[in-house]
Amino acid sequence: MFVLLFGPPGSGKGTQAAALASRLAIPHVATGDIFRKHLREGTDLGKLARSYMDRGQLVPDLVTCDLVASRLGEADAGNGVLFDGFPRSVPQLYWLIGHLGATGRRLHAVVNLQVADDLILGRITGRRTCTNCGATYHVVSAPPNTDGTCSRCGAAVVQRKDDSEDVVRDRLVAYANQTFPCLEQLRDRTPIHNVDGVGSIEGVQGRIFGALGL
Ligand code: AMP
Repeated sequence: MFVLLFGPPGSGKGTQAAALASRLAIPHVATGDIFRKHLREGTDLGKLARSYMDRGQLVPDLVTCDLVASRLGEADAGNGVLFDGFPRSVPQLYWLIGHLGATGRRLHAVVNLQVADDLILGRITGRRTCTNCGATYHVVSAPPNTDGTCSRCGAAVVQRKDDSEDVVRDRLVAYANQTFPCLEQLRDRTPIHNVDGVGSIEGVQGRIFGALGL
């Protein structure tokens, strides 16, 4: 199964993805996570991606699609993937449809997490992320250890540079202008399951599983 987890930044895609991918028994592919790994490792791709990420802009389509092509070439990804944060533009969407179609594969479902803009701002600006394992916290609803370390691995927990308020506003603009139009293109091709992304993690997870008949 090739499934898209869709929704604006801060709608909870990353939070929901692990459980959904494990239930579907397919790997979770999050382009943002892959870019951040390159950033930490200081690769050329990481340096290039940083200049876009820090401004809340999309990394160019060609670069992103190349990255996804090589991930899809790995052994575990042949029969299905849960995409999180990809595609993020109409050209990326058509690239993906073509890439899968070339080998007789297709997209099976879209889960569209819906959260209002005013809630998103509070969610993302309060978000803190582990510098080592990527676990996410929230200063109010799910704080890290009192000394500011990750309760999973003990590394420092910080605010992602692109989670500051001014960058989040730019990310929301990029979402509205470049990413949201993908839904319109998908409408007649792939079942889209709109899921209310507001509520407890377990509540949202239940709605996602229910929408997919799991
Ligand atoms: P995320 O962790 O999904 O919120 O992504 C963080 C940042 O990584 C985005 O604001 C973009 O700069 C970049 N990024 C992640 N996925 C993509 C993508 N599919 N296309 C272009 N840029 C991306």
